[in-house]
This record gives sequence, structure tokens and C-alpha cells, in this order.
Amino acid sequence: MGNQTNWNWDPAPESTDHVKIKEQYQLFIGGRFVKPANGEYFETVNPANEKVLAKVALADAADVDKAVKAARKAYSNVWSKMSGAERGKYIFRLARLIQERAREFAVIESLDGGKPIRESRDVDIPLVSAHFFYHAGWADKLEYAFPNKKPSPIGVVGQIIPWNFPLLMAAWKIAPALACGNTVVLKPAESTPLTALKLAEVIKDAGFPDGVVNIVTGDGGTGEAIVNHPGIDKIAFTGSTEVGKKIIRATAGTNKKLTLELGGKAANIVFEDAALDQAVDGIVEGIYFNQGHVCCAGSRLFVQEGIAEKLFRRLKHRINQLIVGDPLDKNTDIGAINSKGQLKTIQAYIKQGKKEGLEMFQPEIALPKKGYWCAPTLFFDVAQSSVLAKEEIFGPVLAIQTFRTVDEVIAKANNTPYGLSAGVWTDKGSKVFNLTSQLKAGVVWANTYNKFDPTSPFGGYKESGFGREGGVHGLEAYLNLN
Ligand code: NAP
Ligand code: MG
Repeated sequence: MGNQTNWNWDPAPESTDHVKIKEQYQLFIGGRFVKPANGEYFETVNPANEKVLAKVALADAADVDKAVKAARKAYSNVWSKMSGAERGKYIFRLARLIQERAREFAVIESLDGGKPIRESRDVDIPLVSAHFFYHAGWADKLEYAFPNKKPSPIGVVGQIIPWNFPLLMAAWKIAPALACGNTVVLKPAESTPLTALKLAEVIKDAGFPDGVVNIVTGDGGTGEAIVNHPGIDKIAFTGSTEVGKKIIRATAGTNKKLTLELGGKAANIVFEDAALDQAVDGIVEGIYFNQGHVCCAGSRLFVQEGIAEKLFRRLKHRINQLIVGDPLDKNTDIGAINSKGQLKTIQAYIKQGKKEGLEMFQPEIALPKKGYWCAPTLFFDVAQSSVLAKEEIFGPVLAIQTFRTVDEVIAKANNTPYGLSAGVWTDKGSKVFNLTSQLKAGVVWANTYNKFDPTSPFGGYKESGFGREGGVHGLEAYLNLN
């Protein structure tokens, strides 16, 4: 593909023989798989070929009520009474079982969500088990994490997650909640429910007490039912700023605690003294990882003027080599866009960029006929006032600007309602420290991008949300500290 006119990589598809996807999935409530009260099901499709993978139960308010009651019973009778050391053993067992079944999880994640198997296999699933291992270790050490305080669990936690890292977001939510002694009602996104349902099977295999984790699949209405249920003590949400604002309104004046992880529009800043080839790889990683379906994606690129031309040449060359196609092929760099709706959103932004008369670059590649696809896209000389520089696109579209001075780029980078993440590329440590202290972003990567670790807190400023996930800071969100 790309400019490789004379030859192509041979296909290297990951085997799917070891994966069994059922025709129909039920809700996981009170340790059992149960039919939805209203008997309704929805379809989840493979975005790479538009084929239906399975029918999945659609939970309504009655099902959510059942799940919250099961979670309450498990909380009061078992989980909150159990010692941290015992809780930790269950979470360790779960982490090991996920490792054992990692290939199965990775393939299902790529089938249901469209991300390249290389990412689900090497990034998502290993991070999922790392997250459970890390939090298993905290379960019996909470009093040491918060000296002179008496950490106690909050109760029943409602957790609502998006489709971009389906199983990883489930792990980010479930692992700290359980380690801290809470029980859980989790809702996966409508377009990617299958790995969370597989996780339910593994939770059952791990022998967790009934009702400690409940998984209710459904749509936005299911999420609303969780948010509005009076038996929920805390809501943890990851998703769009729009829905986040609705949840703030719905929980205002209640006793529900709330943490929100919302959108982003990160600045990735390259200085003249940066190692250029590494920076080019970091830019590509920053915007094309997971098709750009990443809240912390480096979606605004700032390049210092002196190196701009050279860097743009290398960036175009690099993008010409990217392989877009079958997510299950081990050579694939860019998989399918998660849903038809998201593809339309991205295409509308590309149209807008063209309408603004911006210079655009896309490699000349043939996209597959079936499925939802978008070529990696660059827009040059994007004005601060352009929609492409202001709004989160959540796709493989990079808005590029140039700058002259450090102060100028800090002002431009911070000129956004978001503040989730940023990247800095330079040879000078002093410049890194100057920028990390001045950029208003929860995470700042230096000479790397999109690196995650369970020990490191993640979360945003301003409209990117509040609260942290991961590390000691992430535990605080799941504890009463007196
Ligand atoms: P979304 O529409 O906000 O959906 C997120 C979750 O909320 C889904 O499970 C969704 O269910 C559910 N939901 C929808 N309407 C709801 C309502 N009224 N009440 C309660 N729950 C509701 O976001 P998305 O389009 O799936 O995801 C993309 C967005 O998430 C982007 O803006 C991205 O930046 C953000 N995100 C942020 C982070 C972070 O860590 N900060 C991570 C990933 C994604 P359905 O799927 O069934 O509609
Ligand atoms: Mg799907």
C-alpha cells in the first residue's frame, strides 16, 4: 500500500479458531447470566466488514435495579466485610486468568471494535491484566497509602465506559473499585460489549462472590438508568463531554460521588532540537494509534518553524508506509473506524477542513469496500480559530500549526477548553520541565507519546473532566477518607 507500488506485504491474519462468539449474550447480574426484563436485544457488528457478530441484551431500568440490588447485597454481606488480603486474592486470580486467555480477549476486541490486533494484543490486553495485578497489590495496603486516615469503601459504584478501549476502560474502572472494597454495576458501550461480557465469564470462573461485579449491556438509556438509580453511591464515567455534563446535572443535589474522564485536544509540540525521526514516529503514534479514537490523542501538532519543512517531508513519507486494513492482520497499522456514526463525524470534519481551504494530505491508498474506513489525514497551517484546531475529532485527522517561540507555543497549546494530555519533543531537559509546568494538561509526555502504566495517574483539567484514574490518586476516588 502507500507508495509501495511494486510490492505489498503478504497477509498475516491472526487465527480466530480459538475464539467462540455466542449468538446471543445475556446480562451478568448476581453472578448469573440472565435474560433482560423486556426481552430486547441489540446487534453488535464488526466495523471492518459490517457483519453482525452477536445479539446482546438491552438492559432497561428494571434490569439496572436488579443489578444495583445484587451489588448492594454483595457489598453489605460479603465484599465490604472481607479483609483486603482476601479481596486481593480474587483480583490476582482474575489478572492471571486474563493473561491466560489474552489471545481470546485480543481477537474479540479487534473483531468488535476494529482496532489492529497488534494493538489489542500488545497494548490493550497486557495493560488490562497489569491493571488488575497492580490494584490487587493495593487491596491490603490502603491504610499505608493514606497514612493517618481510615480508608473505607464507598459502596455500590455505577461505571459507564466508551468504545475506544472497551476492556481497558472496564479494567480501569473495576480494578480500583474492587480493591477498595466496593461492588460494581458496569455498562459497556453499545458498539463494543463483547470483551466486557467475556470478562464476566472470567469473573465467574475466578469464583468471585455473586453480585460483586454486575455487567449490564445496553444503550444510553441504560446508562441514564444507572446514573439516576438512588441505590448508587458513586458514578465513574468515561465518555463525551456532552454526556458528562448531563451526568453532572443529574447527580447535582444527590449524595452521589462523581468522577468524569471526558474529551481532549492535546498539543504535541516539536522543537527544533528534537530527534526528528523519533518525533515523526511519536506524531504517528500520537494521532493514528487506535485510529485516533483516543481521548489523549496528539491531535494538534505544533512544529517549530526552522524544522517544519524537513519534518513535514518525513511525516508524509512515513504516512505513505502505513497499512490501513483488516484489523486482524498482524501487519495492519490502522484498523477500522469503530462505527458508521463515528465515520460520518470524522468525514464531516475532513469536509470542513477542505471547505476552509486548508492544505490536506492523505496517502493514495485503496480503502476496503465493506466496513468503515478513513485514511490517515494531515491538515497544514490550521488557524487557532479553525474548527479542526478547536474541536475533538476522535479520528485519524491531525491539525498542524507552526510556531516560533516557547511562549507562543505554550499560549497556543493552552488555548483550548480541554486539558487532558500533551507531548513535548526536545533534546533539552530544561525545556521539558519548563513546558510540563506550564502546559495545562493532566498528562505530559516527553519524547514519547501515548504510554500508559497502572501506577501513573491519568485525568484532565477543565472540560476534560475531574478525578484521576490509576496510581495512588486513582484509589482516592473509590474511598471515603476520614
Ligand atoms: P458517549 O456517547 O459519551 O458514551 C460513553 C458511554 O456513555 C457509553 O457507554 C454510552 O452508551 C453512555 N451514554 C450515552 N448517553 C448516556 C446518558 N445520557 N447517560 C449515561 N450514559 C450515557 O461517548 P462516546 O461517543 O461513546 O465516546 C467518545 C468520547 O469519549 C470522546 O469524546 C472521548 O474523548 C471520550 N473519552 C474520554 C476518555 C478519557 O479517559 N478521558 C477515554 C475514552 C473516551 P452507548 O454507547 O450505548 O451510547
Ligand atoms: Mg461492535
